[in-house]
Amino acid sequence: MIWKDGKLLSPGKILPGDRVYHGMRIWDPAHSKVAALCHIHGEPPVTDASILYLGAASGSTVSFLSDYAEVVYAVEFSPRSVRDLIRLAYERSNIIPIFEDARYPERYLPFVEPVDILVQDIAQRDQADIAIRNLSFLKQNGHFILFLKLFSMGIEKKREELTDEVLKLIKRAGIIDINVINLDTYQSGHVALWGIRSSQKKDE
Ligand code: SAM
Repeated sequence: MIWKDGKLLSPGKILPGDRVYHGMRIWDPAHSKVAALCHIHGEPPVTDASILYLGAASGSTVSFLSDYAEVVYAVEFSPRSVRDLIRLAYERSNIIPIFEDARYPERYLPFVEPVDILVQDIAQRDQADIAIRNLSFLKQNGHFILFLKLFSMGIEKKREELTDEVLKLIKRAGIIDINVINLDTYQSGHVALWGIRSSQKKDE
């Protein structure tokens, strides 16, 4: 990925509203959790990758990923956001918009190839469960990146307690080498869990 003077830059076509530096789009960590992850922890191997992105919204982060990736399958269920996403996909042929509920991956199974990276940014109570249901799209040794919005999971529980619950679930589903990354610096109340899909399922 391209960095200049501490800024993460994206080489694709400049879109309305983009801030530009040295002729490239600035990927703002305050506006994108993936950018925040890159700034705080490091870059996922997005260059030339196939990516399944759950919770695409209007496609802001997806558009930046598409500057680097081979293809981004972008799942979103809000009709208003999907309209923008489709408009974006007309401009960028490597974005495949999917107007579906990510709780039902079987509905888009025929349209998505096995991917190198699964990213989920769905701020819902059952966000971990949704990610696990979509695991079958991820290649073995592929990267699993789950953004947790802790406020969406129950304010009565402590942050560590919530993160541990999800950690247990994803370990049981076969995710290994998991890093827990606090994104508070740029994205308040958010944590990223970044691991690898193993070929073996674990008991705990
Ligand atoms: N990733 C986006 C970005 O950085 O530009 C922001 C995503 S926003 C926090 C969460 C999105 O997930 C919303 O657009 C919401 O409509 C979508 N979403 C929530 N539950 C979903 C589901 N079950 N299936 C598909 N999309 C869902």
